[in-house]
Amino acid sequence: MDYNPKSLKAEEFIHDGEIRDTLRWAEEHKNDLPLIRSLLDRAEDCKGLTHREAAVLLKCEDEELRQRMYALAARIKDRFYGNRIVLFAPLYLSNYCINGCRYCPYHGQNKHIPRKRLTQEEIVREVTALQDMGHKRLALETGEDPKNCPIEYVLESIRTIYGIHHKNGAIRRVNVNIAATTVENYRKLKEAGIGTYILFQETYNKAQYEYLHPTGPKSDYAYHTEAMDRAMEGGIDDVGCGVLFGLNLYDYDFVGLLMHAEHLEAVHGVGPHTISVPRLRRADDIDPDQFDNGISDDLFEKIVAILRIAVPYTGLIISTRESQACRQRVLKLGVSQISGGSRTSVGGYAEEDQEEEDSSQFEISDRRTLDQVVSWLLDEGCIPSFCTACYREGRTGDRFMTLCKSGQIVNCCHPNALMTLKEYLEDYAAPETREKGLRLIEKETEKITNPKVRETVIHHLHDMEGGLRDFRF
Ligand code: SF4
Ligand code: SF4
Repeated sequence: MDYNPKSLKAEEFIHDGEIRDTLRWAEEHKNDLPLIRSLLDRAEDCKGLTHREAAVLLKCEDEELRQRMYALAARIKDRFYGNRIVLFAPLYLSNYCINGCRYCPYHGQNKHIPRKRLTQEEIVREVTALQDMGHKRLALETGEDPKNCPIEYVLESIRTIYGIHHKNGAIRRVNVNIAATTVENYRKLKEAGIGTYILFQETYNKAQYEYLHPTGPKSDYAYHTEAMDRAMEGGIDDVGCGVLFGLNLYDYDFVGLLMHAEHLEAVHGVGPHTISVPRLRRADDIDPDQFDNGISDDLFEKIVAILRIAVPYTGLIISTRESQACRQRVLKLGVSQISGGSRTSVGGYAEEDQEEEDSSQFEISDRRTLDQVVSWLLDEGCIPSFCTACYREGRTGDRFMTLCKSGQIVNCCHPNALMTLKEYLEDYAAPETREKGLRLIEKETEKITNPKVRETVIHHLHDMEGGLRDFRF
């Protein structure tokens, strides 16, 4: 079996031999400083790097070059994403699961976790609570259980969520993270108006994957790995990939992740819309110390920076699994989206006692409220953005990527960030956050170079004070 990025067979596009060759080659060349310098020079053009090229950067331990990588990642981040950070929250609908994933407390054999599936009335309560925090963008999460959580339930829940308008609130983009499914079901999700379909690979190493997923439908490595192809066949333009660092050797999964991105680009003409980089966390029945592949904060930072260089057009997502300190370190290196004020249990937003997350999927490290996260981003000189404009304007898939690659998307992102931040400040912010935010908006509005756009933004910002909402480019 040969390596073939255009193949639709998992073991050909995530080719074990190619990953091992790549890692061997990277190890042999990790001290070839002229080679690494030339790769960094070339990456200045923001056209990305191949999995081999990225692997050699990952292996390189030269301190001066590491600093160069970080500076380059920060420049690329600045060019495509500026100082904007998009905010979202996960919403757990159901923790029923028939799979046996060894690293997740929702695995079917775990008898001490209470199983819950939100009713539509409970979803209304959860989403109302999320809207009252200021969220506009959600990622739906469910376990896999065709009986207790069928696709019809997910579709009905999406309809419910889009239909909730509490005060000035609205969820404008629902991303969906559910188990690998059929082309037909992906088509239904597309018709329901989802934003991104997210599915983490967990690990690309087939043997390790099979060990970690001993039972249930998820144990089928090929079906899981080929899911994004079926999603795209079903008409979903934007897909989000990720691995769970800590499950397998990080370098293998790093290369696999980039090969997956190259495969999607080669077959569908568009790579992943986002990449998430979660690390294994403690949870009920799960002790991360049982897994000996954990990665340090330093290495995590390096992975984020090199991903930014290798796939400049792909959004990078960091969740509240990571601590404030760690999120701070990677903020400027390439992250474009973070979650804030998250609850990782079913029904966690409407419940009064936030400590009682007995059904949570993992322990949250960053437990700040959304307003505290917004305030922190403002202190860091970032623009917290609640923008959801692209998919509502039909800018998805290759249309989005063309705008992104040409750098034109910034003409939408920047004004949209300012206008959605203003909505947040008007409706939800604490007085101190509001003051800081208004100052930033004033400063950032002046930076809009196109006079017509600047004038329109000023106009809309003014209209918002009169109660109007939902302006976008
Ligand atoms: S990771 Fe997903 S599929 Fe596996 S046990 Fe947890 S919820 Fe179920
Ligand atoms: S304009 Fe599009 S790419 Fe930019 S922040 Fe909004 S949704 Fe994202």
